[in-house]
Amino acid sequence: MRFDIITLFPEVFAPLLTSGITRRAYESGLVEVHFWNPRDHAEGNYRRVDDRSFGGGPGMVMLAEPLFRCLTAIRAARQETHPAPVVFFSPIGQTLNHGSVEQWSSSAGAVLLCGRYEGVDQRFIDEYVDQQISLGDFVLSGGEIAAMALLDAVARLQPGVLGDEGSHQLDSFNPALDGLLDSPHYTRPEVWQGHTVPPELMSGHHAHIARWRREQSLRLTAQRRPELLESARLSGKLSRQDESFLKQLPHGSSEASSGTASKKL
Ligand code: SAH
Repeated sequence: MRFDIITLFPEVFAPLLTSGITRRAYESGLVEVHFWNPRDHAEGNYRRVDDRSFGGGPGMVMLAEPLFRCLTAIRAARQETHPAPVVFFSPIGQTLNHGSVEQWSSSAGAVLLCGRYEGVDQRFIDEYVDQQISLGDFVLSGGEIAAMALLDAVARLQPGVLGDEGSHQLDSFNPALDGLLDSPHYTRPEVWQGHTVPPELMSGHHAHIARWRREQSLRLTAQRRPELLESARLSGKLSRQDESFLKQLPHGSSEASSGTASKKL
């Protein structure tokens, strides 16, 4: 897959592409990344990429024309029969989640537009942007961090990228975990500051360990994200054993959590 990133600050991506386990995905070309700086497509001696906002107010707005030229160059470079979607990172977009990351991770990629300043001339968004994605209900100073979040999440889902094949399937939100939250993790030493490790994990008994992890996932999801538990229940992912475990939880019993969740649905 190929991502073409329109950004005024391509240099901020460098550490992401060369560090950690996901670096394999970029180096092998499984996730191809190309950068396009609107400044290289701007006109005049000053290569202007922004200007004051019509109607007044503080802050600058990214000009539509250099972005259009960037996009034209990208379309030519990609040589596609089906044009890849143009994604604009914006606080008004759909919040990024596991479901959409999974879709992107099996797609042909996209053109990712990172805004800066007050944002981008709305006419460019209206004409060329297919989808807006937000990282959450807060404001960043640029779309680059959001683009990196998407790239990183997509890269770790590529086959063979994580050391342990399939280990991402045991991560929170993954359908292999029925969309539940991950269970807690422990490592050496066995006693740290007087705290021991849950004995189930030390038992060496695979079925007991798997059951303990499942129950911790259920407990955490019931406590923290009851709506995820309810979706798992509605799609028939909770066994009778799961339900009886949830019933005996002191707080956030299965009934209480389904009550909260159904209000949200
Ligand atoms: N005036 C805008 C914020 C501009 S911040 C508003 O109030 O909605 C500058 C740029 O940072 C945006 O154009 C966008 O590309 C990026 N950005 C800011 N917050 C973001 C978020 N929560 N998710 C994704 N991108 C964001």
